Amino acid sequence: MRIANDAGRLVLVRDGGGLDVEKASSGLFGSDPQEVYERWAEFTEWARTAGGDLLPIAPGTLGPPAPRPRQVFAIGLNYRAHAEESALAEPEFPATFTKFPTSFTGAYHEIGLPSDTVDWEVELVVVLGARAHRVSAAHGWDHVAGVTVGQDLSERTVQLRPPVPQFSLGKSFPGFSPTGPELVTPDELPDRDDLTIECTIDGESVQSSRTAQMIFPVPELIEKLSSICPLLPGDVIFTGTPEGVGAAREPKRFLRHGEVLESRIGGVGVMRNRVVRDADQ
Ligand code: ZN
Repeated sequence: MRIANDAGRLVLVRDGGGLDVEKASSGLFGSDPQEVYERWAEFTEWARTAGGDLLPIAPGTLGPPAPRPRQVFAIGLNYRAHAEESALAEPEFPATFTKFPTSFTGAYHEIGLPSDTVDWEVELVVVLGARAHRVSAAHGWDHVAGVTVGQDLSERTVQLRPPVPQFSLGKSFPGFSPTGPELVTPDELPDRDDLTIECTIDGESVQSSRTAQMIFPVPELIEKLSSICPLLPGDVIFTGTPEGVGAAREPKRFLRHGEVLESRIGGVGVMRNRVVRDADQ
């Protein structure tokens, strides 16, 4: 199953368009894409046989599949080759920070550059479909509603400013957390633990890996995070980026006005975000 946030309304994505959930369910489920995760099991059961008129979906109006999570977790250094290029040791526990939800945006929206040191990080993004507290990795996927594509855009000057790094702030400028275009349930994927993950800038490949390269795969992340925080339905996890970020290049490379950032995960979807200089720059 695939769902999307079409201009703030929850839709079931089918070949040829979207089914408006509130209308098709006669109000059994509301229009708010965030609320559906509270009743995820019931919703997926209903969706199996749901029918009705399909409406066209305009990509430009798509918002984040989980627009207002109560908690957002983001993981640093979760791919070996990225830890290596960052000249940092592999973590023994997931290196965790947050991305504040005011940084959320859609899969095809323009993103403002507040400086000339903004970097790209394509990531698999997980949305919780059930509460998880002290859950073992063996049951990790049971708590996942679905996955989507994300970017963990990073302003490296703020992120790394001494004396202590400020990951959460450096990665939370407006628009720095695009996700989408759709949320895909894991059963739709040939292998939910091994997906191709790629990022291009104006068509040039800058990141290309597989999610099987994660140091802490999705079920392990759920075990580790939920050993401390209860994870709640609708919570979002940015699972880390593979190698190929701009700050690790020699010379360093950052995003420039007018470039188109494409983020792609096999079987999940593609986001296309144009980056533009902030008006006040
Ligand atoms: Zn990241």
